[in-house]
Amino acid sequence: MAGIRMAEPTGVRDGFARGGGSGELRQSNLTAILRYLRDHGPSSRHDTARGCGLGVSTMTDLVGDLRSRRLVVELDPIRRPGAGRPTRPIALDGEPWAVMGVHVEVDRIHVKGTTVGGTDLWQETATASFTDHHDGAEVLARLVVDQLAHVGEGLQLVAVEIAVPGYVTPDGMAVTSRALGWDGAGVGKAVRAALSDAGLPDVSVGLSSDFHLAGLYAARAQLSDASSTVVAYFGGVTEMGSALVVNGEIFRGAGGGAGDLAHLHVQADGAECWCGRHGCLNSVVRVQELLAHAGLRTPEEAAELVVTDPEGAVKLLADGAAAGDEAVCRALDRAGTALGRAVDDVLGSVNPHAVILGGYVGHLASYLMPALDRQLRARVHEGPYAGTRILVTEEEAPPVTEGAVLAARDACLYDPLGLTTPLR
Ligand SMILES: [Zn+2]
Repeated sequence: MAGIRMAEPTGVRDGFARGGGSGELRQSNLTAILRYLRDHGPSSRHDTARGCGLGVSTMTDLVGDLRSRRLVVELDPIRRPGAGRPTRPIALDGEPWAVMGVHVEVDRIHVKGTTVGGTDLWQETATASFTDHHDGAEVLARLVVDQLAHVGEGLQLVAVEIAVPGYVTPDGMAVTSRALGWDGAGVGKAVRAALSDAGLPDVSVGLSSDFHLAGLYAARAQLSDASSTVVAYFGGVTEMGSALVVNGEIFRGAGGGAGDLAHLHVQADGAECWCGRHGCLNSVVRVQELLAHAGLRTPEEAAELVVTDPEGAVKLLADGAAAGDEAVCRALDRAGTALGRAVDDVLGSVNPHAVILGGYVGHLASYLMPALDRQLRARVHEGPYAGTRILVTEEEAPPVTEGAVLAARDACLYDPLGLTTPLR
């Protein structure tokens, strides 16, 4: 089977079998085309074939297959001056196929349904208390099945991606989460079984850490060439989370825990973080710490406020800084220094094209940047790091549900033969 590659964006080999190959080779060629169209938008057959390393006749066969599955659509012809026959660009379709992104929090889930093509179908927040039940995986599985009522007539659900506040085993099946009190909860198995009981045995079910998916979305949204870039993401509502996104995909590492930049050591001592460390980045820059350091609240009041009114807690800091409150500015300068130390180490260890500051970090970025810039000064004068972009996003909350939708849509693009059937 030498030479066969799975799900690579470019460099897929052509010509192992006539007409686009069979089995794994065919799947990887189909995926190469779908990824190309996802990343480049509507494109000519010629550009797509070249971008995927495919021959013309192979391309014709594969596009025919994708059109029959309604994953690719031919657009109206474009006539270019002096270019002879008009050409019909191709684009992602995917409208008959539905996906669901689910963001699990302690007391609720956020759900967004779209088509594989990206058309919004529905959005819902449902309350659920996972910690009150001894089997949270079963509770979640029932909530996912409840959502099936929203999948409209004529649509078929093909993929679900579930974002959890915790770690996912490398096989993508089980979740360990301090926030939910789960220790190896069999979420993947429970959701698959529940969907199967509901008559949908073939739906792809994926699990990912919440911040991995927020980072995935941020990288794809912020960078036009995400598929060929390395991105480090920092964000959060009042506690910081992070992710590494490499070539437009979550970098998960050996055990699914890569990208945990929010818990890098930045201080020899410090407050205790939920991760168990003292002086990790989050323990220094989380909102409750900043409120207490700025003298805006006592530590106890600050710890309560970030739970009861997280947006208000961040606004207190932003308003204080905007009004020039010296203690607030000092606290944010200190946080910027800690963030700068961590970012400096990230630049050295993975040399990303971009660092994205989202969530509350993004909201406070203008007050964190002077100290952050000071910390990076030695680094960014060196050639390899000089082009690093620090991007700030205006997102309201970490785009976890949106990231889950992207991952669910990807699941279909990466397994078109397994998840879709020819419709005509
Ligand atoms: Zn920590």
